[in-house]
Amino acid sequence: MKLELFPFQLKFKHAFKIAHGIRTTTDVVYVRITLDKVVGWGEATLPPYLPETQQSVIEFLSKVDITGIQIPYNPFEIFKEMDARYPGNLSAKAALDMALWDLKARMENHTIGELLRIPSKPFPLCTYTLGVSSFDEMRTKVNEADRFGFELFKIKLNGRNDFQTVENLRKLTHKPFAIDVNQGWKTIGEAEGAISAIERFDPVLIEQPLPVGNEEVMQQLMAKFQIPFYADESCQTLKDVEQLPDYFDGINIKLMKCGGISPAVAMIERARALGLSVLIGCMSESSVGCTAASHLTPLADYADLDGPYLITNDPFSGMLVEQGAIKVNPLVQKVPL
Ligand code: MG
Repeated sequence: MKLELFPFQLKFKHAFKIAHGIRTTTDVVYVRITLDKVVGWGEATLPPYLPETQQSVIEFLSKVDITGIQIPYNPFEIFKEMDARYPGNLSAKAALDMALWDLKARMENHTIGELLRIPSKPFPLCTYTLGVSSFDEMRTKVNEADRFGFELFKIKLNGRNDFQTVENLRKLTHKPFAIDVNQGWKTIGEAEGAISAIERFDPVLIEQPLPVGNEEVMQQLMAKFQIPFYADESCQTLKDVEQLPDYFDGINIKLMKCGGISPAVAMIERARALGLSVLIGCMSESSVGCTAASHLTPLADYADLDGPYLITNDPFSGMLVEQGAIKVNPLVQKVPL
């Protein structure tokens, strides 16, 4: 079993502006595992607000020895052992974990969803993310989303001109939309004021309204508003899920946050047992990461796997959005790395 690493830089179609800042590119590292001419692909995506970098991913994956893996292998066990032995480095672990699942699926002539015995439907609606935008920028993006077949938006708010931003969206489309604040409302008062103003536009959910560490105050928002609240930054790994049912209605699970498909499956199971709704999301990722995550989406209420639609230089093709919903599609490398 051979492991190779390919650093790469994804380019955004439009500069991506959220409460954390603005950027035009995202660094990634692709992982290729080869066994008997069969390949499995993984991706670590590294937005600048996360601690990992291309260098840290390469260093981490260079020290993980996969040569001793016996065939057939169980990716759950490999993840468990790796996670117990090495702390942190969750994006690097996610890249390796999804590559192992991809390789296993190809070797055994199944999809990853089939290996995991995930029902083949229904696939949930997938959001199209609108970064903080002027009215004209938003019009361009809404038209793009319509052309791609999206039926649900996710709009980023940052605590500035939030009412105007949502009103602009409503002038441009009547399709449903979610809100993602990325911790942008700094106090409970600010959150209550903003939500009171925009609830008339009927958002389907609000993601991470307050900074991490304010989970207990969420109970006030939950009591006051009917809109479902989802944890994103407040929910990284399985450990966090246990604490959240008192403070949120649902969680956003991303392979990059939790360490891959293996831990994500455990998080979904636990979230469901605790009565939490589930959204399967992504960072700015290409088709490798989003196709891996797409296999889990029949277990979710919503998907947010629009990464491949927001970039111009995806070296791969894979999952699609059709009539608004996720469509699982084989992962194919389009250009050499
Ligand atoms: Mg989010």
